[in-house]
Amino acid sequence: MTKKLTGGCLCGALRYECDGEPKEVTYCHCTDCQKTTGSAFCVGVAVDTDALKILSGSVKEYTKTADSGNPITRQFCPECGSPLFTRAAVLPHLVWVKAGSLDEPELVKPTHQTWTDYAVPWAYIDANLPGFAKGGPSPTEEEH
Ligand SMILES: [Zn+2]
Ligand SMILES: [Zn+2]
Repeated sequence: MTKKLTGGCLCGALRYECDGEPKEVTYCHCTDCQKTTGSAFCVGVAVDTDALKILSGSVKEYTKTADSGNPITRQFCPECGSPLFTRAAVLPHLVWVKAGSLDEPELVKPTHQTWTDYAVPWAYIDANLPGFAKGGPSPTEEEH
């Protein structure tokens, strides 16, 4: 990867950049990741703690003991609530950046998935579902 990873939250108050290559890019299906993302799983991009530079804004954080028994701190934008970074006390040299917060998420490539026992069946998108290139029909819209 040659391009520097940059990203930020939904409202733009927090902006960051990362130097160097990601150590791993992980789908995590654990229930904490489901709660914190409001989705089926989280995609975390592990980078060196020293490589992550906050360019603007600040984070609010929440620490919880994970299923692994270790405290995990999740950081998010206090203005818009976007989840941004996850830090594990046992691995202080790494920080996991939420892949969806990257300006160009397509620059990273997932390497593996964890806690698959907790994966919801629809975490793996059925290729037969109807797809709409931009937007989609409104659920309240009547058929004409
Ligand atoms: Zn924000
Ligand atoms: Zn997780």
